Amino acid sequence: MGRQLSVETAVCSGYQRLTEECQRALETWDEHRAEFRRAGPIGQAAGDELLRLQAKYARAYAVLQRHMHDCLLCQMVSGVGERDSSSDAYSECI
Ligand SMILES: [Zn+2]
Repeated sequence: MGRQLSVETAVCSGYQRLTEECQRALETWDEHRAEFRRAGPIGQAAGDELLRLQAKYARAYAVLQRHMHDCLLCQMVSGVGERDSSSDAYSECI
């Protein structure tokens, strides 16, 4: 690992925290979804749980989007290199 002091690496701490929250919510949602799928047909309780986890992820994502919209540093960074963190990597384990 070399030294990288470009603008792209200067991600604000708020963005990092929100991204981690978002990722964690997505992972939890995916884990439960995979778990329920393995267990068989989803019951009402499991369905509600999944909806709640999905809503949690959606909320975390919305907060992240709003932060990026309001934060000058994040706007600067996203203007330099737009990175789309797709969820493809997570669907492998299902
Ligand atoms: Zn920011």
